Amino acid sequence: MMKLRLARPEWLIDINDLRELDFILRNGDVLRVGAMTRHATLLESAEVSRLFPIVSDAERVIADPTVRNRGTIGGSLCQADPAEDLSTVCEVLRGSAVIRGPRGERVIPLTEFHQGPYETAVAQNELLTEVRFPIRPRSGSAYEKVERRVGDWAIVAAGAAMSLADDGTMDDVAMGLTSVGLAGTVTEAEDLLRGKAPSEELFVEAGRIAARACDPVADQRGPVDYKRHLADELTRRVLRRAAVRATDSQEG
Ligand SMILES: Cc1cc2nc3c(=O)[nH]c(=O)nc-3n(C[C@H](O)[C@H](O)[C@H](O)COP(=O)(O)OP(=O)(O)OC[C@H]3O[C@@H](n4cnc5c(N)ncnc54)[C@H](O)[C@@H]3O)c2cc1C
Repeated sequence: MMKLRLARPEWLIDINDLRELDFILRNGDVLRVGAMTRHATLLESAEVSRLFPIVSDAERVIADPTVRNRGTIGGSLCQADPAEDLSTVCEVLRGSAVIRGPRGERVIPLTEFHQGPYETAVAQNELLTEVRFPIRPRSGSAYEKVERRVGDWAIVAAGAAMSLADDGTMDDVAMGLTSVGLAGTVTEAEDLLRGKAPSEELFVEAGRIAARACDPVADQRGPVDYKRHLADELTRRVLRRAAVRATDSQEG
């Protein structure tokens, strides 16, 4: 942020010593991840990979090992860059953010955390301390990104998470896109899929809806049509993979 002159703070406080915010803990049906947990720790966690494979999919394509060894989940979410991969991941997992300040602690859904590019719900005198993810039985998730070269920010990326009811229908499903001007998840496609059995026909329709719902801009990463095409194609792919993973899930 400072390098890009997007922030010129008068004071800098190094929070690297807050080791108590570096944890991954399961509490019943919730996985709690401390804000200072590094990308590399998330990538190496067998429990995270088993419960939420979307996190491992995304972490594998975030930057490079040097950035992943230092960067944190809290820093990624608070930076609120529209191309931040973990923002999409946390939203489709229906995560919530724990924010602490002088008035105490509050918990908000990740969908309310980002308030525009580089803007979050965290006030100047608050810290993001933790991200919580609900663990659902028979669930699966996936993330896929297209980048110009290995380690680059996304041209477009898509994430999906779903859980299946006993009869195999999708009782909850969430879809998100990275880098294409979409606020929140693709609710119209989620409504279409909820309560139905996973099928290629539905996933194709969900891809079309996602491509329409986003608002990409033409830039050095590509023209608008190309980005909409990627939003469509990547949405289908992550839905397919999330459905297979949900079917194979050992949880619940
Ligand atoms: C070369 C490079 C390539 C990258 N490529 C990608 C990529 O492909 N995909 C991707 O998703 N990301 C990418 N990133 C971002 C990377 O994921 C970092 O995680 C991200 O920059 C945050 O780093 P950090 O944890 O050190 O936070 P910082 O840079 O220290 O902080 C970022 C902002 O968040 C605030 N902040 C940090 N932690 C908290 C907290 N707990 N509570 C409140 N505010 C807080 C800081 O004050 C600052 O404003 C890249 C970064 C670099 C440098």
